[in-house]
Amino acid sequence: MYVRGLAMALLTAMLLPALPAQAAEVDCAKVKCLALTFDDGPGPSTGTLLSTLKKSKVKATFFLMGKHVEERPALVKRMAAEGHEIGNHTWSHPSLPTLFDEEITQELKATQEVVEKVTGRTPALFRPPYGNTDARVAGLAGDQGMAQVLWTGTTLDWKLRDQKKIRAAVLRLAKRDGVILMHDVVPQTVQVMPTLIKDLRKRGYHLVTVSALLRGRKLAPGETYP
Ligand SMILES: [Zn+2]
Repeated sequence: MYVRGLAMALLTAMLLPALPAQAAEVDCAKVKCLALTFDDGPGPSTGTLLSTLKKSKVKATFFLMGKHVEERPALVKRMAAEGHEIGNHTWSHPSLPTLFDEEITQELKATQEVVEKVTGRTPALFRPPYGNTDARVAGLAGDQGMAQVLWTGTTLDWKLRDQKKIRAAVLRLAKRDGVILMHDVVPQTVQVMPTLIKDLRKRGYHLVTVSALLRGRKLAPGETYP
């Protein structure tokens, strides 16, 4: 059994690096794509969400808070290993336009550093808490190599806290090349996800990362999308 287990582990290790990221294989110019994005994590329900996404072969984008990365590094490591895109959602979730430059820079930089430490990669995407932003904030994010990602539809899942309502909101907001804002710290969002993924697939959507929506184009630092 031990030898067999070892052989399997070796085989897995050999195969893994050769596998391209699933999202890169979907051509959003040809098929209907939608990006599911999850903010404010990682939290207590994030592991369950990752299992759902893995089982359904869905890649998503997570905008993480630095202090939560520090609390749950294993989940973030897993997120990266499973092919999800990771963005910066500041260290402590302040409304950035009210802060001084140095404070904004610090919020972003500390988060870049902890994500890099845990995953080996530095985020190229940033989402401002509450969507509160201005040219100064976008510029400071750009200084750290990040583009700003907003959304085309917000579910208000944190307010709804109801699986049926969250499901209805996502289905209403879904559109080709859409970016849907949800929160993996809302348990009902995580609970409804298996059903919701089936619903969206039935409607013809390929669920991809934000970067996959860009069809190979790279966002410039400081640029805002969508
Ligand atoms: Zn947030």
